[in-house]
Amino acid sequence: MCGIVGYIGKEEALPVLLEGIKNLEYRGYDSAGFAILGEDEKVSGEKAVGKISALAEKVGGRKFGGKTGIIHSRWATHGGVTEANAHPHSDCKGVIWLAHNGIVENYKELKDELNKKGHSFKSETDTEVIAHLIEEELNPVRSRAPAQGGSPEGTAGAATSNGTFSNAVRNALKKIRGTYGLVILKSDEPDTLVAARNFSPLLVGLGEGEYIVASDAAAVLKHAKNVLYLDDGEMAVLTRDGHRVFDLEMRERDKESQVIDWSPERAQKNCYPHFMLKEIFEGPEAVENSVRGRLVLEEGNAKLGGLEKVMPALRNAKRILISACGTAYHAGRVGEYMLEEYGGIPVETDIASEFRYRKPVFREGDVFLAISQSGETADTLAALREAKEKGVPALAVVNVVGSTIARYADAGVYQHIGPEIGVASTKAFVSQVSILALLTLLIGRQREMSVVMGRRIANELTKIPELMRKILKQSDNVATLARKYGKYGNFLYLGRKYNLPVAYEGALKLKEISYVHAEGCGAGEMKHGSIAMIDENFPSVFIAPQDSVYEKMISNIEEIKARRGLVIAVATEGDKKIADIADDVIYIPKTLEMLTPLLSVVPLQLFAYHFGVLRGLDVDKPRNLAKSVTVE
Ligand code: GLU
Repeated sequence: MCGIVGYIGKEEALPVLLEGIKNLEYRGYDSAGFAILGEDEKVSGEKAVGKISALAEKVGGRKFGGKTGIIHSRWATHGGVTEANAHPHSDCKGVIWLAHNGIVENYKELKDELNKKGHSFKSETDTEVIAHLIEEELNPVRSRAPAQGGSPEGTAGAATSNGTFSNAVRNALKKIRGTYGLVILKSDEPDTLVAARNFSPLLVGLGEGEYIVASDAAAVLKHAKNVLYLDDGEMAVLTRDGHRVFDLEMRERDKESQVIDWSPERAQKNCYPHFMLKEIFEGPEAVENSVRGRLVLEEGNAKLGGLEKVMPALRNAKRILISACGTAYHAGRVGEYMLEEYGGIPVETDIASEFRYRKPVFREGDVFLAISQSGETADTLAALREAKEKGVPALAVVNVVGSTIARYADAGVYQHIGPEIGVASTKAFVSQVSILALLTLLIGRQREMSVVMGRRIANELTKIPELMRKILKQSDNVATLARKYGKYGNFLYLGRKYNLPVAYEGALKLKEISYVHAEGCGAGEMKHGSIAMIDENFPSVFIAPQDSVYEKMISNIEEIKARRGLVIAVATEGDKKIADIADDVIYIPKTLEMLTPLLSVVPLQLFAYHFGVLRGLDVDKPRNLAKSVTVE
């Protein structure tokens, strides 16, 4: 959520910052602003409610000459969506300027204290207290002449520093309870930028003669391939001569940088009108990349290098606990069916936000598995920490290399699918499901799964990308269907067994992209409640491939038709029977039952996409949503 970019280097800062923050737009935000530190120690900036383009428009042709600056896109948590609340925020004198991602939980107490000391606040945010806390460390308000108030266009007041910048930041941070990714500048120290992190992602791109701090790697790709991922409680001090990382006790940390091998082009739309469509079409490649080099066809097995060190734990595992949120949770539910049926191991899948707050009962032989595309999902991270603290081996399936979950997990599997920019997750889902299929092979072959069955699954998995490409060719037909059903405001998505999580996922996609009410429901469960909603204005989407529950699904379709409900069916190629009862059918090729979600989800992703586009909505950045949900 929200985006932060900070720059210190040889180039004019503003163009770098604007470009960087544009690359983070996909994460979701409601307002934006920047502060540039000029060579005359003057801080200037601009703020705007709405899109980055509104901010850029406000800038117009104006030049902001400084080579140090910070920019922020805000996803409001405390205080309305207004220009005054947009970041960066400053202290009383406009000396300290900072952009913050996260929540200062004790901001009320701190603000009261600071008010009593004579500080004056310009916003309703929790963030602003941090600037005043730093000011108080450097130059206590009580001990000086009345403040003049800082504004983005104001000249910095002459602060008489009684501590170093980084020390002041460190002392201020020690007073804060909550989460932060922070980048801070001080007007009378134009050659220093300070960045700090606690539970909100932050990294430092190490460019040539320049540093670029960001909450997400997508913002630094053009400037730096080497990045330092800050850990919780760490602070980076960046100057024109070099960088140092400290903990909050000011002990220096020796950190290794990591190389990001995503090319900047991968974060571009190329010829697609939207990232979401591009990423749906990248689904087959995502499966290929997630599976590449990991299948041992001859042995009907999978080789997952990232799990080597936990192999003994996996061999002795008696239960797997999966935690994830949103689309990743649905992938986890598919994994649960696979692992239980073919891996022969009990699995419990939880919504991470529930897992972390209920009292999970761990047992000897438990293995925990977190799934998160971004590797930064706050709830999933908290669930992983909980499991780790209880001594449970904690694994993760993550896309973003070096992300927090990737680093905290004991072992894991990377998705290798490049950046996913569309807020509604698509290619990440198919990648996660294919990795769970690999895990099923690995765990199954350690247990009862025969080599013949292992080979069948492995072989079929290699064919999936081609089958997905066949489905994608029907995109125009799905668009026609979206047009036909575009007038309806409610949808029920129904599935059983492997395709129940797909029903949930299809409904989630439609809600996210079209703001239309859609509900996923077990087809066997609908008669216990949901069927009451059905009439000729409430269409149902049945995910009904020819699998072990096909006949049951056909009966459920009949039940809906008997109540005048409209039915769209996702069915196996050549299934004529379903065409006779359903109003519309989208066909998918035949595959093994456990792999059908990799195919059946594709038309549902396309349906949601076209539905949203036809409604004229911003499908890449749906309202109220953020790509990487780094707050609770
Ligand atoms: N809590 C801060 C605010 O509401 C930061 C929100 C964000 O992460 O964008 O301004």
